[in-house]
Amino acid sequence: MEGDELKIDDKECTRCMHCINVMPRALRPGADQGATICVGAKAPILDGAQFSTLIVPFMKVSKDNDFEELIDFIETIWDWWMEVGKNRERVGETMQRVGLPTFLSVMGIEPIPQHIREPRSNPYIFWKEEEVEGGFERDIVEFRKRHAA
Ligand code: SF4
Repeated sequence: MEGDELKIDDKECTRCMHCINVMPRALRPGADQGATICVGAKAPILDGAQFSTLIVPFMKVSKDNDFEELIDFIETIWDWWMEVGKNRERVGETMQRVGLPTFLSVMGIEPIPQHIREPRSNPYIFWKEEEVEGGFERDIVEFRKRHAA
C-alpha cells in the first residue's frame, strides 16, 4: 500500500492470479491479456502421471493475430518431439529424459526464476562455464582459506 493506493511491482509479479481471486473488487484483469504456457502433463501410461512444467509465464494471445505466436510455439514443440521423442513417449517424458535446460534451449527460451521447481533443492538450471565470471577455475588453497572455520 502507498497511502490509500494498492500498488503492484509488475516486474516481481509471477501472474499467479491469487490477488485477483482474493480481491475481486479491488483488482480486475488488465487489458494486456494472454496465456501461461505449461508443457508436459500426462496420465500414467509408460511412466507415472506427471504435472506440467511452466515454460512461459505470460504470452500475449489474441484473436487479432490468429493466435500466431501460440501456434508457432506449439509447432516448435511438435517438430522437436517428432525428431527426438521415442516410440510412445509423451512430450513430458521426452522433456524429463533430455532435461529442462536442453528443452529450453531447443525452444530458444532463456531460463527464468519461474522455471525453478524447488528453490535450493532442485535448481534445474546450471550455469555453463562461459556464463560465470572468471569461469570455474579457482585457487583451491585460496578458496579453503576463505572458508576455513
Ligand atoms: S498475480 Fe500473484 S504474484 Fe502477481 S501481484 Fe497478484 S498475487 Fe502477487
